[in-house]
Amino acid sequence: MAMLMILCPVKKKPVATGMDMPIEQVRSGQIQLTNNTLANCPECGQNHTWSGKDVI
Ligand SMILES: [Zn+2]
Repeated sequence: MAMLMILCPVKKKPVATGMDMPIEQVRSGQIQLTNNTLANCPECGQNHTWSGKDVI
């Protein structure tokens, strides 16, 4: 497993979601996300709701 990273849509930089899950299974939708809002993005300070396809 690995820490899931997404791309901040504001700064276009990778940020850690704080979630530790198998990346491929999240991307492919095999794992349903239940807490997929990143609050206080470390890059821009906003909240981002993300989905499996946003995982980088
Ligand atoms: Zn951001």
